[in-house]
Amino acid sequence: MKKILFFILLIFGFLFLISPNVEAKFNNPDSIRVYVEPHPTSFIADEAMSAWTKATAGKIKFKKATKPEDVQIYVRFVKNIGKSTDSNAIGLTHHIYANGHRLELIEISEKAPNGRLFSRDARLRVMIHEFGHALGLEHSTDPKSVMYPTKGTKIIHADDVRTLKYIYGW
Ligand SMILES: [Zn+2]
Repeated sequence: MKKILFFILLIFGFLFLISPNVEAKFNNPDSIRVYVEPHPTSFIADEAMSAWTKATAGKIKFKKATKPEDVQIYVRFVKNIGKSTDSNAIGLTHHIYANGHRLELIEISEKAPNGRLFSRDARLRVMIHEFGHALGLEHSTDPKSVMYPTKGTKIIHADDVRTLKYIYGW
């Protein structure tokens, strides 16, 4: 029985290796419609979008919408995400369906589960990371990647851009 289980795991392991779990989320990567909820720190979302546009030399661009209808990414600021999950997450990206179309919902937390406020830098790093998820990137095991899950960097690495290039085919 253990042997069978081992082989099943092995097969799934290989399937995972040969089919990286990445997909293009948008067919208009140079004009992705984004709604950012009004918030005193909403400029962090603007900074994150600029970072992606700069890193991809304009291949990824965002259009800010003044209304949430018909957008492709929705950024929401919440008091505390960590409490609703088992992790100490500062940010989360969900894929949801709204009015029949797919939406990437980014949630950014103001406070850690212990009530501590996150620094501006920490939140920018997380915002860039969450936008990476919204664009279709998965976690990286490389600490130099913005997609490294914990205590990462806010500098978008060439490999992050390379993966996007692969996904969107520019
Ligand atoms: Zn993540």
